[in-house]
Amino acid sequence: MELFDLLIRDCRVLLPDLTVLPNAIIGICQDRIARIEPNAILARDLGGKTTIEGGGKLAMPGLIDCHTHAAQQLLRGSVVDEMPMIWARILVPFESNLTPEDVYAGALLFCVENLKAGITGFADAGGPHMESVAQAAVESGIRANITRSTMDMGEFIPPGMKQTTAEAIACNEKLYHDYHNRGDGRVKIWFGLRQAMTSSPELVEAVSIRSKELGTGVHIHLAEHLDEVSHCLQCYKLRPAEWFDSYGLLGPNLIAAHSVRLSDKEVKLISERKVNAVHCPRANLGSHGFSKTPLLLALGANIALGTDGASSGRLDLFEQMRLLQSAMQARYGLEINDPLALPAVETLRMATINGARAVMLQEEIGTLEVGKKADLILLDIDKPHLSPTAHLTKTIATAAGAEDVNDVIVNGQLLVKDRAFLLLDEEEIRRKAGETLLRVGKRAGLSLAMPYTG
Ligand SMILES: [Zn+2]
Repeated sequence: MELFDLLIRDCRVLLPDLTVLPNAIIGICQDRIARIEPNAILARDLGGKTTIEGGGKLAMPGLIDCHTHAAQQLLRGSVVDEMPMIWARILVPFESNLTPEDVYAGALLFCVENLKAGITGFADAGGPHMESVAQAAVESGIRANITRSTMDMGEFIPPGMKQTTAEAIACNEKLYHDYHNRGDGRVKIWFGLRQAMTSSPELVEAVSIRSKELGTGVHIHLAEHLDEVSHCLQCYKLRPAEWFDSYGLLGPNLIAAHSVRLSDKEVKLISERKVNAVHCPRANLGSHGFSKTPLLLALGANIALGTDGASSGRLDLFEQMRLLQSAMQARYGLEINDPLALPAVETLRMATINGARAVMLQEEIGTLEVGKKADLILLDIDKPHLSPTAHLTKTIATAAGAEDVNDVIVNGQLLVKDRAFLLLDEEEIRRKAGETLLRVGKRAGLSLAMPYTG
């Protein structure tokens, strides 16, 4: 008998071409997928040290949130319906008052929320005390791509957050040396630049060079606000993407979060450079504008999705998929009678294999294939909003949500079974995060009008 560490029986499997294999088994050995086969061929000869009955479930790749902020987890609700400048009035006082323990408490809750929503990997754009986020990722079992959000110039930045160019690089490299490949290789450390307005040319150049020397990536906010565009035009006579490109920063190892306020020329440039454009539809539609997603796709760009953190909503990539599809249809499809301005199933690719490419792990995760790492989720599809359906893939793209995630496996390890954590104490994590929220709110002088800490 062939014995697996983890065996999922009798499930449906979402294949890389987005077709569904019915009545199948998935066998996992250590951290990798060892078999995906129809039940009928093999079921009698297989066993698992742990077995999951997959009846009524769809196995699909874990979702990858390619732009998020773990350190803002406790800001939930605090930026909603607020007037400008949210960055200066709320985000900076909050982030600059966080201790490493505060960030750790929030980051554990962040991991809990992600995993329960089927997000098996995330790319964090950085915040204070990112070693605490890396530590929470190591302990929770999630896959993580973490940066420091380096800033060496600009207004509204408290002294503790602004560093010299040399300090910024040294701190990022320390994080790299301390945490890169920790957690059985699940944690990767990248370089980070907060955005163009807070980065000196020297910092951009140094990050561009050092990231290539270390063979790692860079995470930036790009073309998010018009202020950033004006800044680059005034200071450098270049648009933001052109300015970053002049230092060799644009390439396949770059996550360009938001990528909204781009000229058509910049769209062409980032497509040619194979930059990973990461849209965050909820944040973009609220504060930044419509992305040029159909043009980016037509030019062959890799587009992935991000939640932009929990401060103004929830960590639910299914929601982001739907928002982007609706937004693109409204903005580009309607006026030319094109129902396929952004096909719904394309958003499913964005949340899975495109996300894997964005974090440079497309050979390891992002699809369910034999030999790849076992990062997968089981959706409970026996629900009135998901079945019956004649088109399961399209239904998942348009109607599934975080609550449909029943089981979660990362790196071959079963972390969530029947929506309950096997390693983490969810209630205790939420309780500690609640205490932290009250403490930080007081310290930062933020008004906590109606705190609820559970
Ligand atoms: Zn962001």
